Amino acid sequence: MPELPDIELYRRQLDEHARGRTLQSVAIRDARVVQQSADELAKHLRGRRIEGGRRHGKNLFVLLNDGHALLMHFGMTGTLGYAGEDTPLEDDDAVVFDLDDGQRMTYRSRRKLGKVLWVAEPDDYLAAQHIGPDALELREREIVQRLGDGGGLKAALMDQGRLAGLGNVYTDEALFQAGLHPRRMLRSLDDEYRLALAKTIRQVLEVAIEHDGDRRRLPPDWLTPHRRKGAKCPRCGTPLETGQVGGRTTFWCPREQPSP
Ligand SMILES: [Zn+2]
Repeated sequence: MPELPDIELYRRQLDEHARGRTLQSVAIRDARVVQQSADELAKHLRGRRIEGGRRHGKNLFVLLNDGHALLMHFGMTGTLGYAGEDTPLEDDDAVVFDLDDGQRMTYRSRRKLGKVLWVAEPDDYLAAQHIGPDALELREREIVQRLGDGGGLKAALMDQGRLAGLGNVYTDEALFQAGLHPRRMLRSLDDEYRLALAKTIRQVLEVAIEHDGDRRRLPPDWLTPHRRKGAKCPRCGTPLETGQVGGRTTFWCPREQPSP
């Protein structure tokens, strides 16, 4: 599932491939991911120039030269890619944008849980959706404040209303690196632990971005490359544990992340 580091990669690729290009047409091939009609979307997009991308948590805004934007949310499996206009389309290509240089920008979604939506103003959209600040836009103390005091760690870190950007995988990674069991309650952490966790969250996201969000290339002593049944902790060799926490499949090291 695309999380903040993946969205940052999409933002950079958008700037590289599509900035300054004009949208010539848009084709909706799967209406389930688009919240507006084809006519409405085309009316807002056709002839607009792409000024660049803006990341906010798991959301990517394609900024348009008329001051409005196109929101993309990638659900569980979405991607954004670029190809020449002669490249054959694939079944999962849900929305296809033709650019004025002959390139095609394709929003692909296998499980149809993503979202493509024209918005008048990104900040208004984020406020209406109750999406909190982008995790990397905050200092450590601000992250602690946003997380607050309520609930279990796993659910709190994934709560986009508190902090936007962490999903299942990087939440587990941050808790692993901070040595905190995902079932611990936030209120059980003292101030020192909270600050350390906030620092770890920032580091995990920054290092993941340095690796272009490619989970296979992440440092081998991270949890993420070992997320599978029967794997051992890359740091201490203890068999990893897995279970449902906060409604999601979670991995942790029972030795370094002691049970609460
Ligand atoms: Zn371990």
